[in-house]
Amino acid sequence: MTQKPTGAQIRQTFIDFFVEHNHTFVPSASLVPGGDATLLFTNAGMVQFKDVFLGTDKRPYTRAVDSQKVLRVAGKHNDLDEVGRDGTHHTFFEMLGNWSFGDYYKKEAIAWAWQLLTDVWGLPKDRFYATCFEDDKGNIPTDEEAAEIWKQQPGFEPSHVLFFGRKENFWEMAETGPCGPCSEIHLDRGEEFDNLAGKPHRCGVNGECTRYLELWNNVFIQYNRIDKDTLEPLPAKHVDTGMGFERIVAVLQGVDSNYKIDLFQGTLEAVRFLTGDSLEDMYANFTPYRVIADHARAAAFLIADGVVPGNVGRNYICRMIIRRAARFGTKLNLHEPFLAKAAEAIITAYGDFYPELVKSRESILDNLTREEIRFARTVESGTAYLQGMLDELQKSGGKTLDGRKTFDLYATYGLPLEIARDIAREQGLDVDEAGFRIAMDEHRLASGGGKAMGKLTGEDAEFYAGIMKGLQKAGKLGKGGVVYNPYKWMHVEGEVLALAADGKYLTEAGAGDRVEVLLRKAGFYVESGGQVSDTGVISAKDGSWEIEVAEMRKPSAGTIVHVGEVVFGHPKAGDPATAAVDAARRHDIRRNHTATHLLHAALHQVLGENARQAGSSVTPDRFRFDFNHPEAMTSEQVERVEKLVNEAVAADYPVKPVVKSRKQAVAEGAMALFGEKYGDTVRTITIGDKYSYELCGGTHLERTSDVGAFLIVSESSAAAGVRRIEAVTGRGAYDLIARRNQALKNASAILSTNPEAIAEKVSNLLEEVASLRKEISILQTKIGLIESEEVFKNNKTLIDKFVVVAAHFDNVDRNAVLAITDKFRQMYGDSDLYTGGTIIASGIQNEKPFVYASSTDDAVELGLDAGQIAKYVGEVLGGSGGGRPTLGQAGGKDISKLPEAREKGVKFIKKKLKQSKKKKE
Ligand SMILES: [Zn+2]
Ligand SMILES: [Zn+2]
Repeated sequence: MTQKPTGAQIRQTFIDFFVEHNHTFVPSASLVPGGDATLLFTNAGMVQFKDVFLGTDKRPYTRAVDSQKVLRVAGKHNDLDEVGRDGTHHTFFEMLGNWSFGDYYKKEAIAWAWQLLTDVWGLPKDRFYATCFEDDKGNIPTDEEAAEIWKQQPGFEPSHVLFFGRKENFWEMAETGPCGPCSEIHLDRGEEFDNLAGKPHRCGVNGECTRYLELWNNVFIQYNRIDKDTLEPLPAKHVDTGMGFERIVAVLQGVDSNYKIDLFQGTLEAVRFLTGDSLEDMYANFTPYRVIADHARAAAFLIADGVVPGNVGRNYICRMIIRRAARFGTKLNLHEPFLAKAAEAIITAYGDFYPELVKSRESILDNLTREEIRFARTVESGTAYLQGMLDELQKSGGKTLDGRKTFDLYATYGLPLEIARDIAREQGLDVDEAGFRIAMDEHRLASGGGKAMGKLTGEDAEFYAGIMKGLQKAGKLGKGGVVYNPYKWMHVEGEVLALAADGKYLTEAGAGDRVEVLLRKAGFYVESGGQVSDTGVISAKDGSWEIEVAEMRKPSAGTIVHVGEVVFGHPKAGDPATAAVDAARRHDIRRNHTATHLLHAALHQVLGENARQAGSSVTPDRFRFDFNHPEAMTSEQVERVEKLVNEAVAADYPVKPVVKSRKQAVAEGAMALFGEKYGDTVRTITIGDKYSYELCGGTHLERTSDVGAFLIVSESSAAAGVRRIEAVTGRGAYDLIARRNQALKNASAILSTNPEAIAEKVSNLLEEVASLRKEISILQTKIGLIESEEVFKNNKTLIDKFVVVAAHFDNVDRNAVLAITDKFRQMYGDSDLYTGGTIIASGIQNEKPFVYASSTDDAVELGLDAGQIAKYVGEVLGGSGGGRPTLGQAGGKDISKLPEAREKGVKFIKKKLKQSKKKKE
């Protein structure tokens, strides 16, 4: 028997097979879709080619092959609940595909699929079935063409062509747009793979059991859907195929579960090593192992694409996946962080094909462990609290846990909805998910994270696709759509091709109207890679109207729209016009953008290669730069980075944009950013002799010295594991320096000194203030003592010959009051006139009440313990007190209680005197 192929070999065989058939290998796009704000994650192989099918993007090839990273944990495709329960579901998986963009069609696609499956991979021909489309509604023609082609494949059993309706065999991108029939290839794996063998069930293609596997779907895009009832044939027909990678590997390796393929074994072994389970134990309790293997893989790939754990959107999903895996770990008695070990095996298994995993290795391991530790801190109290809520729900006979309460559980204990739901379901209950989402959205809005996504909806793209098509037919626009060159054109002349507003076509607009303008060329930069859009003015050639452009939009590739407000006049479609970018603003943006590249390079020098860019925002006034780094930078590091950037500015390096193949750029070490959609040719920005080398579509300076000056305004936390630097350059830096200079000048004027001497002067002044304070205290004490005799006299109560004084002392500090009680003891302690005395002296310091109680030695003998008195008074003040028999002190919070405290203190003394008298008698 020959050795089983490895997963890596199978993937490569697929790619090589199609490359031999003149396909271009296209690397997987990021899990974070570039330029598509409507989609959280890349959830199909189609995502990176969508614009090609819509006809708004063109590629230098017409045949492509790829293995696309796909994540299905949110939105329409969400397999999270199924993961772990069986051997076929994943959150993350790979989708193998071959693509024809108006090139080959059914004949080649089917023949190649057949050759690969049977000749190359040697799967048995008689076990295959092919499904073809036959409309259950009788409107769309049956796909006889595909059926006939199948029957001609050598060795294919003609009776194995089966027809199915729209649900199984007709593919549509959306309610309108490209669509067509598909043909699925199913494999009969034999009875031994039937999970329902022996039980009555629908056994067959598209049946209920695991015996018949759908392996590969070939979609033939031949129609454009205009509306619900109208299909028009496409002039150029396309092929889009998808084969679940894990599934074909399981088939070729002869295993009955995707989790038993070689690519998962390292991860499962790592976990099994930690639990000490035997292989039998593991398979007997496979669910937590499957969840951990799946989630560790998904999290590793997410972090490699720059998505770290956090509270919102994609980051929330990353956090949820890690926490869910950690919780399943507790089911295996794993209570220490373990996911880094699981992920390490993933990096080993996938790193050769997906080098981003190797590059981000440290970040992956670090983020996983940190997140597990964070979760461990709260999970116990969180689940205990949840259990309390579930118990209550059970008692009240309810079935569904309140969504808002579940959100509070997340906000307080970090227990994600998905985990709360898992736990609830284990007990036959459920969670109100809609309520959770509403509470989360409200919270997000309240915390300022819920910015509008703009109008990047599918409808919007379709509206413009219609306009574009019309203009292309009329010859007013080329095939590629609007010609875009923000690097060259600060001024563009041409006719207004179309005016629109709110998804409607306008023939004319008036002053104050918000309009969208389509021109043949666009020189205004469209927000991308963190750099904001340009603003400027579009004006009529004859000066009769003017539109102030406030933003730019790109509803789809090739469609670029100026958005603005009519300042005066009546712009119409067809008017000759000039569009001019606000040049000064653009120059400020260029300074800031070039500075972000210098900053990125400097951070690498100071913090290391792991300080990778995690997002940026480049505006004319300032810029923000987020990067992966686990802890706050020290002030020395910040200073060093600032200095390095300013040195690079002074070095006057040339900044050179060069367009080249992506392959070459990446091989040369150019830094690529996550979330950006790169084509096969990319624009690179080189500063100096590769001082910095990045893929970037932004607008840059020609030389670094034009940055002027660079100042870091702040360094702070942006999210867990992500730091944020805000900085200014050029005019912004000048403004900052000027403002600070002015503040210094004001200060030195007030201090009558030069700016350099301010620090010394202020420190001298502070010393002087401290010594003056001391002096005041001494003086207050002196004054207090002088006045005290008078106060004693006026507040004295005599009980027989015993002196009681209760008084408040204003405008003196504690020390003064303490000295006064000393004086009281001297005056009344050693006197033949009196039998003793006790004083209750109150004051206020730092807006808080205090009381000293003091007794002469004679008084102490009579049972008047000053510490006891202070304790009692302290209670009246709402605070506490205590001390020695001769001296006690009390403090509280409420100043208004002082008179009551003194009064009650005196009563307390009188009571004690009475008690002592009784004792004597
Ligand atoms: Zn069956
Ligand atoms: Zn850039």
